[in-house]
Amino acid sequence: MHGTTLDKHSARRSSGNNDATRSAKGTGIIAGIAFVKKRGGPQGYERFLQRLTQQERTILEGLITPMMQFDEALLQHMVHAIVDEFLDGNPERSAELGRFIIEDGLSSMYRMFRKMGDPTKTIAGAGRIWQLYHSVGSLQVYDLEPKSARIRLTYPYLDLPFCRMTAGMFIASLEQSSAQTVRIAHEKCVAKGDRYCQYHLTWK
Ligand SMILES: [Zn+2]
Repeated sequence: MHGTTLDKHSARRSSGNNDATRSAKGTGIIAGIAFVKKRGGPQGYERFLQRLTQQERTILEGLITPMMQFDEALLQHMVHAIVDEFLDGNPERSAELGRFIIEDGLSSMYRMFRKMGDPTKTIAGAGRIWQLYHSVGSLQVYDLEPKSARIRLTYPYLDLPFCRMTAGMFIASLEQSSAQTVRIAHEKCVAKGDRYCQYHLTWK
């Protein structure tokens, strides 16, 4: 019986993208905690924790490794708490969190992109970056040209703060790979009532 259960679990994991409840990888949780500690220090981290539920605080006090899986709702709640505690309650400013995640260079993947110095290649790899953080949703890059690209983001927990955080990640990734004057247009956005977010990125 145990074998059957394990098989079911591994089948679900390998097919990916079905279990929306425990699919946020530790990478994103670790990055969020690092942002809070950098912005707020130990006292700010305490205030941040007070915005979470007791159950969520207990999880954050436990062991968190990059590939462990957590509730997407925890990640969403952390982003909201960060906006409320450190970004004046302004969801547009969650772009700063996205920038931090890239610029802090938490993973060797980013250092690799930085070395490549090629914005087009960097943005072409955005879908793989998504998979570092989530096992639900998808990030599709298309209309890829030397100085522009479109990206479509679908995600069950997509909301305005999450959209702007992700946009900040795109902009920082491009800048890290030597793009200049990066602009982003929100052609479709959950904040405008669309079911997904579609970004048009241009740079020089
Ligand atoms: Zn959006």
